[in-house]
Amino acid sequence: MRKTLCLTLFLSSLLAASAQQTAPSHFDGDSWWAHVKFLADDSLEGRDTGSEGLKKAQAYAVEQFEKAGLQPAGVNGFYQPIRFTQYQVDESKSSLDLVSKGQSRRLSFADEAFISSRGTHASAGINASLVFVGYGLQIPEKHLDDLGGLDLSGKIVVYIAGSPAEIPTALSAHYQSLGQRWKALREAGAIGYIGIPNPASMDIPWSRISLNRNQPSMDLADPEFNEIPGLDLAIVFNPAAAEPLFAGSNHTFAELAALAKDRKPLPHFPLDTSLEAAAAISAKSVTSANVVGKLPGTDPTLQNEFVVLSAHIDHLGIGAPINGDRIYNGAMDNGSGSALVLDMAASLKAHPESLKRSVLFLLVTGEEKGLLGSKYFAAHPTVPIKSIVADINVDMFLPIVPLKFLKIEGLEESDLGTRAASIAQSLGVKPIADPEPLRNAFIRSDQYSFIKKGVPAVKMDVGFELGSPEQKIFKDWLTNRYHAPSDDTNQPVDLQAAALYEEIVRRLLIDTANTPASPQWKPDSFFRRYAAQ
Ligand SMILES: [Zn+2]
Repeated sequence: MRKTLCLTLFLSSLLAASAQQTAPSHFDGDSWWAHVKFLADDSLEGRDTGSEGLKKAQAYAVEQFEKAGLQPAGVNGFYQPIRFTQYQVDESKSSLDLVSKGQSRRLSFADEAFISSRGTHASAGINASLVFVGYGLQIPEKHLDDLGGLDLSGKIVVYIAGSPAEIPTALSAHYQSLGQRWKALREAGAIGYIGIPNPASMDIPWSRISLNRNQPSMDLADPEFNEIPGLDLAIVFNPAAAEPLFAGSNHTFAELAALAKDRKPLPHFPLDTSLEAAAAISAKSVTSANVVGKLPGTDPTLQNEFVVLSAHIDHLGIGAPINGDRIYNGAMDNGSGSALVLDMAASLKAHPESLKRSVLFLLVTGEEKGLLGSKYFAAHPTVPIKSIVADINVDMFLPIVPLKFLKIEGLEESDLGTRAASIAQSLGVKPIADPEPLRNAFIRSDQYSFIKKGVPAVKMDVGFELGSPEQKIFKDWLTNRYHAPSDDTNQPVDLQAAALYEEIVRRLLIDTANTPASPQWKPDSFFRRYAAQ
């Protein structure tokens, strides 16, 4: 018995090792890295939506697509032009005053609270009382109602980002999206909100959030996309300075934050404070484009269906200097994913596969402004939306440690997740669900635009186990490099991890293109509802 067990263990470890070592890979990491280096070069100035730098990146992508033999699948060749409106707060003409017991006090934009142009699209003068609404969510599926029984008419609500523990990740993420959250708040009568980031799940420290608070935001220009009608004022409040909001309320922010950290239910109550605000917002038009290429399938029927491989090619551009550097290069976010899309097209030319379905290579713009390029594409797809069977989205997959665990966003939602998991396993990589659901990653990148149109999607990243040394490496990366100028090509990257990740994506792409049945949502997936619509 014992011996057999040992032998079995020995054999299975041998198998796992050989799977990893002898798996034929189409990638070496070098060609991928060369693309990252081009896209994240200082001369591209951080690829801000609408910028010359992004145009250079896109021209490079088109050149690579042509070299790989892709067909143009945009509106204007490979390009799909999009109109945006850019919003910017003029702080010199704006102010926030917190009023408590008849005393008003000017808040510091840098240290206490600032106006978010993402949710404030027109200049406004406002004087409104405040109501604390817990997480500020209405989730009928779980009978959660943070707004019921409160008088919110004409009020500004105050909420802490997050959700109670009994709300599943996907549901929690969905209802915390700006559009969904505002829908509920607006119906309850609110005119604005103060969002307090949950200190337990902040990717970026306040100092860095505040540093770039005046970067312009954007929205799609076409009114069909307006998700925030009636929202007069959106404010982001520093959790470390939030205590005065709760003065006289018999609650402290410290006590509420402690509950939110453990995802416990939060109370709801009117605050004893009110807010006087003057918001000066300027607006201007900007144009940018998605880039779309097509590799036609060979099956006479299935070639009319598409597997989308997507990545956002835009980043943050030029911002406030950190350590003297103003260029937010976005090497990992998302030079890495864009480079993968280019590398994948080249690999399918160099090592052709017979693909039954067609593959769309999609490089979207405006992701950093709120998934705007993908939202536009999903609303105005250049192929019929019903013909898109899956979206494999690649965004900042972070090959900064060896690829032993593959985190799959959407693992449990569709059989695309199941397929991704078994492909990873076959290459000696352990598939895992998101160990940090509070970060809402499933709705934070472009796959979400496809999900909302009913298309099964996954986003995969290099993963780690909770409590491992790797977890700290990722945490430090987010704190120091995420959305900072140091996300550049001087950082250490594991090229072997990148190559293995690319191989997983290649196999998933081929498998999805060739499996006769298209991927389906799991019967109990929350997101299945969109496919039915
Ligand atoms: Zn980003």
